[in-house]
Amino acid sequence: MDDFSVPVSIPLDSDGFLRRECPTCEGEFKWFSHDEGDPDAEVAEQYFCPLCGVPAGCDSWWTPAQLAYMQGVAAPEIDRVIRESIGDAFRGIRGVTFRQNADFGLGTPTPDPLVEPDDMIIVEPPCHPNEPVKVPEAATARLYCLVCGAPFAA
Ligand SMILES: [Zn+2]
Ligand SMILES: [Zn+2]
Repeated sequence: MDDFSVPVSIPLDSDGFLRRECPTCEGEFKWFSHDEGDPDAEVAEQYFCPLCGVPAGCDSWWTPAQLAYMQGVAAPEIDRVIRESIGDAFRGIRGVTFRQNADFGLGTPTPDPLVEPDDMIIVEPPCHPNEPVKVPEAATARLYCLVCGAPFAA
């Protein structure tokens, strides 16, 4: 089977922010989701948590709800690809009939779409105003820049 990827879109809030959960402090915040090719987007191999300042790799910030959703969306698609490749393997072999079996595989139903509420407030780190974040209002006294980790207060 060839490698394949399943595109899963995670919703942004109406300001274009994506909800994130810090793997260190488990606090939730949001970062701005730049369009692909946006010159304002900082290219980074890690980001600093705005709440606790501890860095983690770019892929470490999914919330449990987002992970569950992605697995839920990807599973039926993986299922379909496996089924098709089994069908291909049997095609053309005399005397073997491959029947599609709807119960084959994981059979996971596609989950309901995620909804992203417009909560939290926007703050811009003075050192990197092109990378605003949204944080819970109670957390604004001491924040850290997403890109360089410099502390600031909103
Ligand atoms: Zn944190
Ligand atoms: Zn910065």
